[in-house]
Amino acid sequence: MISMPEVYWLLIAALALVSLALIKRRRIPMLSTLLVFSSIFSVQFNLEQSYVESERQNVNLTMTRELGSIAHKVTGIVGAHMAAVEGLAAYLSTQPELSDAAFNEFAAGIFARQPYMINVAAAPDLVVSRIYPLRGNEAALGLNYLEHNEQRDAVLRARDSDQPVLAGPLRLVQGGWALIGRLPVYVEGAGGERRFWGIVSATLDARKIFAAAGLSARGADHQLAVRGTDGRGAAGGVFFGSPGVFESPGVVTLPVSVASGEWLMAARVSDPAGLARGVWFLRILALVLAGGWLLALEQRQRIRNDKRYYERKLLDSEQLLQEAGRLAKVGGWKLDGKAELVHFSEQFAEMLHMPNAESASRSEVVSMLSRRHREELKNAVQRCFTHAQPFDVELPIERSTPMQWMRIIGNPVTRNGRVLEVIGAIQDVTERREFIETIQRQATRDLLTGLPNRHQFDAFLAREIAHAARNSQRVAVLFIDLDEFKSVNDNLGHGGGDELLIEAAERIRSCVRKSDIVARLSGDEFAVILPDVTNRNAASVVAAKIVASMNQPFDIRERHIFSSASVGVALYPEDGTDAETLLINADQAMYEVKKSIRNDFTFFNRELQRRSEERHGLFNKLSLAVAERRLEVFYQPIVPLDGSGQISCEALIRWRDGDSWIAPDSFIPLAEETGLITEIDRFALEEATAFSERLRASGLEPPALSVNVSPRVFFDRAGELARWVERVKLCAERADLTVEITERLLTQDTPHATVVLEQLRASGVKIAIDDFGTGYSSLSYLARFPVDTLKIDGFFVGKLPGETSAVTLTETILSLGHKLNLRLVAEGVETAAQLQFLEARGCHSAQGYLLSRPLPEDEFSNWLLAYRESGDQWNPVLARSAG
Ligand code: C2E
Ligand code: CA
Ligand code: CA
Repeated sequence: MISMPEVYWLLIAALALVSLALIKRRRIPMLSTLLVFSSIFSVQFNLEQSYVESERQNVNLTMTRELGSIAHKVTGIVGAHMAAVEGLAAYLSTQPELSDAAFNEFAAGIFARQPYMINVAAAPDLVVSRIYPLRGNEAALGLNYLEHNEQRDAVLRARDSDQPVLAGPLRLVQGGWALIGRLPVYVEGAGGERRFWGIVSATLDARKIFAAAGLSARGADHQLAVRGTDGRGAAGGVFFGSPGVFESPGVVTLPVSVASGEWLMAARVSDPAGLARGVWFLRILALVLAGGWLLALEQRQRIRNDKRYYERKLLDSEQLLQEAGRLAKVGGWKLDGKAELVHFSEQFAEMLHMPNAESASRSEVVSMLSRRHREELKNAVQRCFTHAQPFDVELPIERSTPMQWMRIIGNPVTRNGRVLEVIGAIQDVTERREFIETIQRQATRDLLTGLPNRHQFDAFLAREIAHAARNSQRVAVLFIDLDEFKSVNDNLGHGGGDELLIEAAERIRSCVRKSDIVARLSGDEFAVILPDVTNRNAASVVAAKIVASMNQPFDIRERHIFSSASVGVALYPEDGTDAETLLINADQAMYEVKKSIRNDFTFFNRELQRRSEERHGLFNKLSLAVAERRLEVFYQPIVPLDGSGQISCEALIRWRDGDSWIAPDSFIPLAEETGLITEIDRFALEEATAFSERLRASGLEPPALSVNVSPRVFFDRAGELARWVERVKLCAERADLTVEITERLLTQDTPHATVVLEQLRASGVKIAIDDFGTGYSSLSYLARFPVDTLKIDGFFVGKLPGETSAVTLTETILSLGHKLNLRLVAEGVETAAQLQFLEARGCHSAQGYLLSRPLPEDEFSNWLLAYRESGDQWNPVLARSAG
């Protein structure tokens, strides 16, 4: 079974374990717990100590009193008995020869008065010779004390000390437990000396005496013990009670005088139940208190942790908000009921560059706005207060440089329908505003010159036409094209070109009124709208002014640049009633100037009108023909002159409109301009390739094939160009293919040209330069481009052999070709003399009416058959047959 103290310590241990666990989980604070526990238990311990101490003192006092009373009784009883026996001893010392009867009479007298007396004996010379009462004590007669171990010591002590000795308690020979009082008897000898006679003993009933004195080994709440056998005090043995009593702590002892000796009485409190109850009360109180504190601490810590948690949460979210605010450039603010700025965030002050953030006020913020915006904000705030209407305004902070745009949002906080305060945000939207403005500008403005762009121009023109229509007025449109822009760009680079454009825009602007509109349409094309012109003359004055102004040299990159302008003028309503037509016609007029003298202006006129309409009609018809694949391809032989070369032919597009043929020269430029040409080239390429295959299929070895390719395809988007390259490559697998490109493409130097030509060449396509000699640029490109063939333009060939300059030029081209190892083809050979001239100078091939006109498929097949039949040799008969 578990005893009470163990339970206590177990409970303390449990409490400690629980506390440790809680401390570890931070559910209670360690320091406070230690402090509380140590104070509770130290108080408990001290209280317990002093309680126990005072209890002990109480007990001691009671015990001492108890012992005192017992001792008093014992001493009294023993003293009375001894005194009675002393009388007998005194009588014997005078009458040693006492008769038995006298002895018995004397003893009987003592006996009668002393209730605890068992017997009285006299032992002269230490041998018991008389005893009273005899009955029951016969066994003691004749007992020699010297021979009796148990009794000898006390007897001798009494004899030697001449003092009464209380011996025992001891077991009587005749039975019982007795104390024996022994008194020595001395008599006067013959010579008067004192002589030891013997001993007188009185045997007392110890049990009865102890009982009479109230001595009992175990009381209700205490234990008693007595030691000091034979009156030897602490040295004597324990004869009453448990010897352990003497050893126990807090024992109370008291000496008791018996005869000439001493006993030692001891008492101790046996398991004081009251004490235990008090201590336990204290301990349980302490445990309960500690437990209670533990709960309280835990509770407090929980609250504290919760608080700390929410504080941290709050701080976190606050920081997050601050950070988010900083990133989003958003600040917060609050107006109280009196519309005073009572609260605002850091960003708020930062964004508005408020130097003294603490003392910032509403008026300080308001003062940053212009008067108009101040009003706007004031009204918004007022409406918010009076009608609980939220607001969201964007206002410029005029004070800041560069100017900032702030979006201010306000929301009313209401209670019972009354606006208590207004809470809001402020956001820096400068970047967004600038972005939007830029976008708007870019959408309507030309970035380089700042002039309205084509898009904006169209809108303006439409607006002006509508206005003029309502008021029966005129509008003039001037189309301006710089004459030398391309060469400036080539020679000074794009930067130089840009400077020229900016300066040109400047000059045009300065030639017109503020109400007139100047726009940049594209590249080096500008346009002017003169709203409200009264007559042609007014428009021509402005046009002439512009031409004259552009005629002045431009100072660009420390160089004088001369770049004139060509100007075309169209008028509303005469030359067109819509914006598009007017602009096209002004362009047409400009083109007229460009074609002739440049550096001038002209009006759109009847002739141009006619041509314009014609062009328009032609374009429609051509588009249809292309879409319906109603074009045809003719083939013109290219005949080798050196005897060993291969026969070849050029594919030339033909368009029959009804019964008449339309010459390529009159529709090819239109097709180039409008982009139809790429469709046409594609048609020609595929037709020619298919024809070549058909020839082979019919058993005729097909000639090599030459197709014309417009430079336009090189300006197509990358994807289109790549598709075109693939198409050409496919055809090159089916025919021996040469593409003819004009010199112009190479001088224009498109970034793709070189790469594309290299790609084609790698696939076995040969490259020929068409109309060679008509170009105006250097010949250096010949080294840069992958070229196989030069086709000498028919213009020079036609002047051979009579015209010297043509002769020189042709000879130069021929020798150049020879040096560069290129194949040389002469175009437009019409006479035998020309042929002879070319043949004599090593021209490799010839093409022209002399040899054969361009022929439709079947005729060409026949021509080729005849050519092959004559052993791959051209002869005049062939030309005539093809006639
Ligand atoms: P080109 O490439 O220089 O073609 C040669 C032109 O000279 C052809 O004119 C041809 O009929 C003509 N011709 C041939 N021999 C003689 C001659 O002995 N005397 C004279 N006076 N002319 C001769 P055509 O067919 O009218 O073509 C004119 C131009 O149209 C071509 O000049 C070429 O630049 C272009 N062209 C023709 N077909 C196509 C085509 O399919 N695509 C492209 N992009 N252009 C083509
Ligand atoms: Ca050609
Ligand atoms: Ca040509």
